[in-house]
Amino acid sequence: MRTPTLIAPPSLIAGNWKMNGLAASLAEAKTLADMFTDTPVGVRVALCPPATLLAQMAWALKGSDIGVGGQDCHAEALGAFTGDISAEMLKDAGARYVIVGHSERRAGHGESDAIVAAKAAAAVRAGLEPIVCVGETLEERQAGRAAEIVQGQVRGSLPKALEGHAFAVAYEPVWAIGTGLTPTLEDIAAMHRAIRADIIGAFAAAGRIVPILYGGSVKPANAREILSVTDVNGALVGGASLKGADFIEIVRAG
Ligand code: PEP
Repeated sequence: MRTPTLIAPPSLIAGNWKMNGLAASLAEAKTLADMFTDTPVGVRVALCPPATLLAQMAWALKGSDIGVGGQDCHAEALGAFTGDISAEMLKDAGARYVIVGHSERRAGHGESDAIVAAKAAAAVRAGLEPIVCVGETLEERQAGRAAEIVQGQVRGSLPKALEGHAFAVAYEPVWAIGTGLTPTLEDIAAMHRAIRADIIGAFAAAGRIVPILYGGSVKPANAREILSVTDVNGALVGGASLKGADFIEIVRAG
């Protein structure tokens, strides 16, 4: 009998700059790229700047090991959608990744699971790797509903169109984002295990190699222990990705 080959999901550490950064901030990204000589083997790195900087950043980081990503995309490829940006446009600007369903978009822009799923499908249509975010609020966790909420989001936000394409899921408890609070390592492990089971349920064996990132107050001081939890295959980093020195420490912990 042949021994089955164990294939691990590729790690991904992605920085989400949110609505921060002007042209001068590109220097920070370039410094970061220069520092990436001792990135752990097998760890992929992405920076998701505001849309205004995406093309310039992609150009500045061309040839480096850092991929660039958008923070959101519209589900349609083009049309009368003032202010929106399509996945195709992000791709054209040099993006490799796009975050969809971040809690700040779900809460602040009324994005349902169905909308997030349509955006994830648009991302793979355009050749981007979507990072699909899920996570419970504090009230939901306190009510003992965290697992049920996250399971519902995973099932509702990952369309069949992802089959055969690279994508990642980011578990980001809403109450941990930008607060300095993090779940216990046991809680992170339990949620990632449940998410892994759901992804395998939806995508069969291919679900085993989907990276599941943890996000929410990841910083140099806690990165190593969080990234060593089973089924944590990387991190989505907000605040700490704005400081090159902090972000690189997190990458080195990956
Ligand atoms: C985020 O916004 O995706 C995030 C994880 O933010 P922070 O790291 O600042 O908590």
